[in-house]
Amino acid sequence: MTSDFIINGKALYTPKGAALEYGRIGCNFYTGCPHECTYCYLKRGAPSKQLGGNKVRLKKCFRNVQDAADTLCRELDKNLEQCRRYGIFLSFTTDPMLEGTRVLTMTAICAAIPRIIPVWVLTKDATFIHDIHLMTALKNIYQDKRLDIHFGFTLTGRDDMEPKASTNVDRIMAMRKLHLMGFSTFASIEPVITWDAAEKMVRESIPYCDHYKLGLRSGVKKDYYNAIESAGTLMRIVQTVEAFGKTIYLKESTRRLIQSCYQPGAYEAFMSHTVDVDGKPIK
Ligand code: SF4
Repeated sequence: MTSDFIINGKALYTPKGAALEYGRIGCNFYTGCPHECTYCYLKRGAPSKQLGGNKVRLKKCFRNVQDAADTLCRELDKNLEQCRRYGIFLSFTTDPMLEGTRVLTMTAICAAIPRIIPVWVLTKDATFIHDIHLMTALKNIYQDKRLDIHFGFTLTGRDDMEPKASTNVDRIMAMRKLHLMGFSTFASIEPVITWDAAEKMVRESIPYCDHYKLGLRSGVKKDYYNAIESAGTLMRIVQTVEAFGKTIYLKESTRRLIQSCYQPGAYEAFMSHTVDVDGKPIK
């Protein structure tokens, strides 16, 4: 995937490649993530330098938290049209709902709402639902603005591989709470570690989840996934999601894996039950 516009600010930027499937405009205030997932893509290769290991730090380009907030407001105003169209995504370089990062995430939400900019937040930390200050701030958001704020939880079903994150059950419970408060919710079923775990996560979250994104594990051997098994499970997952009136986006890597399992025409028919990267139905 490529972007048809470029933002290269201190807080906002246009990501490249597969990251674009998560957010067309990234918003990063911090680097570093403490969850220690064994499959972490940010521990490998070039991105590892950008992430900054397990310790969470404000990005060096910001003098302090206030400077980060002011910078964001300037960059939102400068790129208003694109931000309104695509929303902003937090975060590619940290978990934006950690105790140490969530204040600036809430600041970003408060800056986006009056500018009519959707916000997408993806986390593996469910502890914020016990943070009285944060929950009060969320309750103070007008009901009609809440659908523009999308809270997402990564759900792999594999707590053993995410030792420092909230459990998957706790993440689903946090999703439930936000759903009941009227916020939009989504789940990132990525990486799929096993298809059984992925399907279980969809089943357990479906009453509270509005939208799913599903992607595969990177950096594994070619035969890690069985294409026939993958296509069969995906068929059931897509049927479940559709039956509940929710939507699902299959990332490019997933589509590539299963495409060869279908007869001509059947793949397109299957994909028409999913949505594109921007959430629009695929015709
Ligand atoms: S939550 Fe994401 S960035 Fe943090 S350790 Fe896990 S995979 Fe890496």
